[in-house]
Amino acid sequence: MSVHYYCRHCQANLGTLSSWQADEQQLGFNQLSDEERKDMINYDSQGHLHVKVICEACETTLKDYPDYHANESFIH
Ligand SMILES: [Zn+2]
Repeated sequence: MSVHYYCRHCQANLGTLSSWQADEQQLGFNQLSDEERKDMINYDSQGHLHVKVICEACETTLKDYPDYHANESFIH
């Protein structure tokens, strides 16, 4: 199983953990609400985890244009 992190806004690949030994607790997923987990974490058909986060570029953009927070995705 591997864990893929990607930006929820621009879909940039932010990193992959290929040999995933950590459990959800170590990754901090247990601190998320059920709704957040559903929103952020997806399992694909091979059982790999896909985690939506926000990349640095989008975080900067969101700071400048907070209105974009309401949108799931936008074009730079
Ligand atoms: Zn981004």
